[in-house]
Amino acid sequence: MMNVKDIEVGEGTAVSLQNHLERVWSWGGASSGLCHVYRPTTLEGVRGVFELAYANGRTVGLKGGGNSYGDAFTNSENVVLDLSRMTRILDWNPETGVVHVEPGVTIEKLWQYVLGDGWWPPVVTGTMKTTVGGCAGMNVHGKNGWQVGPIGDHILSFEMMLPSGEILLCSREENADVFHAAIGGFGMLGVFTGIILQMKRVYSGYLDVRTGAPANLGEMFSFFEENLDRSNYIVGWIDAFAKGDALGRGDAHLANYLPPGADPNPQESLSLDHQNIADTLFGLFPKSAMWMFMRPLMNNLGTSLVNTAKYYAGRMGNGKQYRQTHAAFHFLLDYVPQWKRSYGAGGLIQYQPFIPKENAREAFAEMLRTCQKHDLPNYLTVFKRHRPDDFLMSHGLDGYSLAMDFLITDGRRPTLAALAKELDAIVLAANGRFYFAKDSTLRPEVARAFLGAEAIEQFTALKARCDPDNLLQTDLWRRLFVE
Ligand SMILES: Cc1cc2nc3c(=O)[nH]c(=O)nc-3n(C[C@H](O)[C@H](O)[C@H](O)COP(=O)(O)OP(=O)(O)OC[C@H]3O[C@@H](n4cnc5c(N)ncnc54)[C@H](O)[C@@H]3O)c2cc1C
Repeated sequence: MMNVKDIEVGEGTAVSLQNHLERVWSWGGASSGLCHVYRPTTLEGVRGVFELAYANGRTVGLKGGGNSYGDAFTNSENVVLDLSRMTRILDWNPETGVVHVEPGVTIEKLWQYVLGDGWWPPVVTGTMKTTVGGCAGMNVHGKNGWQVGPIGDHILSFEMMLPSGEILLCSREENADVFHAAIGGFGMLGVFTGIILQMKRVYSGYLDVRTGAPANLGEMFSFFEENLDRSNYIVGWIDAFAKGDALGRGDAHLANYLPPGADPNPQESLSLDHQNIADTLFGLFPKSAMWMFMRPLMNNLGTSLVNTAKYYAGRMGNGKQYRQTHAAFHFLLDYVPQWKRSYGAGGLIQYQPFIPKENAREAFAEMLRTCQKHDLPNYLTVFKRHRPDDFLMSHGLDGYSLAMDFLITDGRRPTLAALAKELDAIVLAANGRFYFAKDSTLRPEVARAFLGAEAIEQFTALKARCDPDNLLQTDLWRRLFVE
């Protein structure tokens, strides 16, 4: 074994664990851990971090862009291996749309790299700050989940470094069992060091968008079901404060790619200048300061007023059709930089259950009513449609998800934990599933119940093969899978 002092971890040699101690926060800012953080830039650097952790008797948690809402990349009192400096595009073929990237390449860098050649990533998240490695680790979905599945469905192959330092090539043909478990395997089997993905051909930098303003949950479901066959993307927003006949009211946006020839000037619309999201409001006010003005509204009364205003604004624009750039349509959550800071010191958590389509309407209605009954309404609620996939630890199913953001304060923590238990019971009774990228509150028995004993057994067996010393761990892994 290498001498610990001589290990190259991308930031010079002769490092000790203590020099790298940092507080690592969950994206939502509601939890954190003191961790020894390393940010290598090379494969040798990654290998060096594994050696260092072995030599010091520590475990290693993997981190991409740090956009998971909870504890999926924190590894308290242990090592965090941050891949965000491995940002090279290793190969790009503008004829076939196949790209080979290092894990720290962000969705932002990826779309900006391929768009000029007439391609777009087939699946993108609501923020462009996520990395391809982190997206593969959680098998993320976009606003087109029911049509194209999660990102894993577009990964052709990947290279994965095991804690032993060995690099495994995985695809649907080679090491297929590891391929289907490491995608969505939340960094527990190995580090993706290179990922090959298929991009989607586009003929314009614009999407054709149409809005809807469903007056209740029933109308929201109808809007989706009526438009699924004729849309490439659909996303709904729900006013979680509305009650009675208005329960589940909100707005919805659907979007379609433009066919070849529909855009008179694709060179221009596909250019980066055209896609850029403005960093000022009305050309004057810096958006980076907006979260400070949102801060006084982050309470039940303030957000109920904002939700009501947003709903009526949506009704006024009901049925509107317009063209919007890809970036503007997809990355709405990047419009206001650092908006999460408006939640204050306690931060926020998200709860995103996935429910089969037959049970979703009733289950979501019950969940919204349960939150209201406890006076713990969710401040931002997003509704999406999905399809099943063949990844082992999947959150996907033929149904809907509801992503609900909750403000955290010291006073709310115990009541939110009790609320989450009630919501878990509704989800399990409806044969639903959960998503580790968004999770902060699940308990081991709930994870077991939705994943099933067989999937957990298979995953544990693969972990024993890829990571026999259990080097790869995170706070989430210990919370849910280590008894
Ligand atoms: C504003 C916002 C909007 C979002 N919208 C969506 C959305 O629309 N759809 C959706 O599905 N999710 C969404 N998310 C969640 C986010 O996409 C996922 O949490 C994603 O995994 C984050 O990527 P990351 O690069 O930040 O990875 P991290 O959060 O840093 O890590 C995610 C997981 O991947 C593992 N990992 C990281 N890098 C590697 C690697 N190289 N090899 C192996 N494992 C690795 C980590 O251990 C961790 O378990 C959103 C999050 C935010 C904050």
